[in-house]
Amino acid sequence: MTGAETSGHAARNVPSISCVGDRCCGCGACAAICPVSCLDMTPDDLGFVHPVYHGGCTGCGLCAKACPVLEMGETDGVASIAWAKASEDGLRRRSSSGAIFGLLAKEVLSDDGGTVYGAAFVDGCRAVAHRRADDECTLDRLMRSKYVQSTMSRAIYEGVSRDLGAGKSVLFSGTACQIAAMRNYLSLRRVPCERLLLVDVICHGVPSPRLWRMWVDWMSHTTGAKIDEINFRSKSSGWLTFSVAYSSASEEVRTSVFSADWYMKAFLGNASLRKSCLDCPAKRCCGSDMTLGDFWGIQNIHPEIEDGLGVSAVTCNSDKGRVVLEGLRGLVAYGDATWDEVMVGNPSLTRSVAPHPRRDEFLHDVAGDMTVEDMMAKWTFEPSIWNRIRRFVRGKLGAVVRRARSVGNRTLRLGSSYRGEN
Ligand SMILES: Cc1cc2nc3c(=O)[nH]c(=O)nc-3n(C[C@H](O)[C@H](O)[C@H](O)COP(=O)(O)OP(=O)(O)OC[C@H]3O[C@@H](n4cnc5c(N)ncnc54)[C@H](O)[C@@H]3O)c2cc1C
Ligand code: SF4
Ligand code: SF4
Ligand code: SF4
Repeated sequence: MTGAETSGHAARNVPSISCVGDRCCGCGACAAICPVSCLDMTPDDLGFVHPVYHGGCTGCGLCAKACPVLEMGETDGVASIAWAKASEDGLRRRSSSGAIFGLLAKEVLSDDGGTVYGAAFVDGCRAVAHRRADDECTLDRLMRSKYVQSTMSRAIYEGVSRDLGAGKSVLFSGTACQIAAMRNYLSLRRVPCERLLLVDVICHGVPSPRLWRMWVDWMSHTTGAKIDEINFRSKSSGWLTFSVAYSSASEEVRTSVFSADWYMKAFLGNASLRKSCLDCPAKRCCGSDMTLGDFWGIQNIHPEIEDGLGVSAVTCNSDKGRVVLEGLRGLVAYGDATWDEVMVGNPSLTRSVAPHPRRDEFLHDVAGDMTVEDMMAKWTFEPSIWNRIRRFVRGKLGAVVRRARSVGNRTLRLGSSYRGEN
């Protein structure tokens, strides 16, 4: 455990959430629900926010009831599983995988007064926070994955609550812990949720906001251009080998394939993730209607479908989710898939990742005064020769197993009453 992680949680004087400690995922539900506003979400040395208590607690216990770590939901059901991709190629180019989020959002916005909530870059791309969209212009900034923790302010909880109370259709999207937090909050507030669609993303985990800010500032400095737009999922080199594109005044100033981008290597190497992500409290029990991810491995199952622009894995976790997905018919190409087919390329659907063996040391460097150059020199995140050989052999074996499994699975389609195996 890093010093930064222990020092950030000053909420231990509050009885109701004092036991959460490092399991806190930073959702902000406790601070949002507190009737006397005695908790503030405050960043620690890594930029991860935690509730900090500043006196006046009445002991009502609402914060603990809103907390997704203390108040976990039941295991999510599985109403259907599919591969899916938007028919409109332009929309897929502007999305991370098959643009299912974009399609769902457009549907909700087209319903008079409908609103959409999701993660957007703020502060000139130096941070990520949840925002509200009420038309297609403001929707674009919620699209595409931002691999940084997104903060959820009290205003976001109140906004969703107010929109639903006014009878609007609302799409709320985010990581599983954010969905669970919002669901708990709305339930405590007794907000009617018939017109709410909850959509989570398959979640690898969220990296340190401090590291991200340092990285963007370093990128602006070394390119000599103020970076004001970042696409983590540029498809200029394809979807399977996506790139990270950094732009200034709408001009791309640097683009690297993901495996060559140092920030992405730290993220995918599980070095920069929040502690809570190593033992996620919300996977497959957040109460979402739909879970969206990349359908990694679709090229081994349906090679004719992969066209370089992205295919989504969609699990509909409720009948509402299934009906909504079926309502997109005509706007998407989609077909049945199995749980195993999704899991082969996407274990993050149910399992938390194992940390980088020297994660604590890396985060200690991030929280300290090391420069990005020094960190890049010390932490190359290159796999050792043995790991490369192991991965190569595993990849070859995996392809054989996948082919064998997918033949077997097609004869064993999941029924509508199937529930998750996690
Ligand atoms: C931190 C993170 C980790 C992920 N890990 C995986 C993984 O391991 N495997 C996998 O298959 N897919 C993962 N995804 C999901 C994947 O990258 C796509 O977001 C998903 O496939 C939806 O793509 P789309 O084309 O339908 O829509 P897009 O337009 O690409 O989706 C955007 C959606 O992502 C949400 N979002 C973006 N950034 C954040 C953020 N920082 N915090 C919360 N919500 C955010 C938006 O609110 C919106 O709902 C991850 C996403 C994020 C944000
Ligand atoms: S117990 Fe009630 S008053 Fe005290 S911090 Fe929690 S929500 Fe606020
Ligand atoms: S997980 Fe969310 S609700 Fe629980 S203590 Fe952390 S910020 Fe508060
Ligand atoms: S891995 Fe779990 S705890 Fe971490 S951001 Fe994702 S849903 Fe939240």
